[in-house]
Amino acid sequence: MPANDWKAIIGLEIHAELLTASKMFSACPVVTSVDADPNTAVDPLSLGMPGTLPVVNARAIEFGLMVGLALHCEIPPFNQFARKSYFYPDLPKGYQISQYDRPLAINGYLDIEVTPENGEAYTKRVRVRRAHLEEDTGKLVHADGGTYVDYNRAGVPLLEIVTEPDINSAEEAEAFARELRAILQYLGVNDGDMSKGVLRIEPNISVMHKTDTGYRTRTEVKNQNSIRHMYRATKAEIERQIKLYESGGSVDAATLGWDEVKQKLTIQRHKESAAEYRYFPEPDLPIVEISREEVQTVSARLPELPAAKKARFVALGLTDYDAQVLTMDKAVADYFEGVLAGGANAKTAANWITTALFSLMNKHSIEREDIGSIKVTPAAMAALVKLVESGAINKGTATTVLETVWAEGGDPAAIVQAKGLAQVSDTSAIVTTIEQVLASQSAMVTRYLGGEEKVFGALMGAVMKAMGGKANPQVVTEVLKVELGKRK
Ligand code: ADP
Ligand code: MG
Repeated sequence: MPANDWKAIIGLEIHAELLTASKMFSACPVVTSVDADPNTAVDPLSLGMPGTLPVVNARAIEFGLMVGLALHCEIPPFNQFARKSYFYPDLPKGYQISQYDRPLAINGYLDIEVTPENGEAYTKRVRVRRAHLEEDTGKLVHADGGTYVDYNRAGVPLLEIVTEPDINSAEEAEAFARELRAILQYLGVNDGDMSKGVLRIEPNISVMHKTDTGYRTRTEVKNQNSIRHMYRATKAEIERQIKLYESGGSVDAATLGWDEVKQKLTIQRHKESAAEYRYFPEPDLPIVEISREEVQTVSARLPELPAAKKARFVALGLTDYDAQVLTMDKAVADYFEGVLAGGANAKTAANWITTALFSLMNKHSIEREDIGSIKVTPAAMAALVKLVESGAINKGTATTVLETVWAEGGDPAAIVQAKGLAQVSDTSAIVTTIEQVLASQSAMVTRYLGGEEKVFGALMGAVMKAMGGKANPQVVTEVLKVELGKRK
């Protein structure tokens, strides 16, 4: 059975901590910082003390509704919390309050744009089965030869989003994860940092042979610190399953981990079934009613989401690719809009941000989401783009000015003034320089006139250098052609 007889079947389970001030069922403050001292953000409820009673966090419901509506879900008129029982030291009550048969949101979808490694980009709709609220668990910390438990995270509001198994490749899983993360960031309900564990994305993976009529056993991959890791783990798991079947073996339903250093999957445990959780309605909480008015209010207040922003950028003349890159991170989109507000041309601005600025950021290991903290402010970037657009400086000078602002900050126009970097478009000055250069480079002139056209570039370079890089390259090209023509 060759590998292309197989297709991957993937459904994602996403856990997103919600950026509320207090926990899901109590007034205990939420502290998500990994530097916080253990067990300092706890209260009797997070510790599962007997006699405590949960109260639903209205803000968490609102955030959940925002996500549900952004994912085009139906919002049932009632949702209900349920107890999910299992024993683990990070869960002091012995059960997690979650939602089971009456989730907050159901039957949605997300359209994703997929760019396969080799092949054309395409869009695809992935159905979202449900989104429900629950509380996060504490954390086990293995250190100094012992195991400790930190309950700071216990009770933090968590939104679990579950897709249908509509995803058919690691690339599609990656595209979904990126789009969803962007939506959560735009909504301001989660900062999207997988390395801190505030966003956890778990692919459920099986493979299907082209002769199959139903799904095969699936596995679930946990513990990835980034979307890139998830992509690699998913790819590895798809390959592992195909190999297993092709060698006559079978896949066990299991939870796997991903070791990014070794680039290897690890088997963690075999999976519980719903029956083992003994779900039943949470008797300490009322059924939550969501009025149609509330749905409308939340829906009307949703901010512009990545897909809409992208369409708006395309309408400004950006390529699909630039629009995608500039909307994927909310911070980058905000930056770009700041540059536009500074009066810069959209296409030119997009170009400078996605090439010169991003390459500086890469070089200095600045993450895209930290673009707000660089010395090149949106206003400075706008000023630079306007200097290029008006022809006041050429691209080479602009790159130098950008590097100066990157290192020292400041206003590009002032830097151009102070350093005398303004572009020279004055033809007479350019003619004079060209005459001098051609006189001193007679060998090259002879070669050019003898038909060696590539010498033109070298002559061009010599003229630009003689003019301190400030000449208008278009004017130089034109005058140089004329002057060389005269010497034929
Ligand atoms: P459970 O309730 O045990 O977690 P679900 O049926 O709710 O199981 O599915 C959990 C996730 O697994 C969903 O994202 C779903 O799309 C996905 N899934 C279900 N069946 C398969 C399969 N055969 N292969 C891959 N993913 C699957
Ligand atoms: Mg599950």
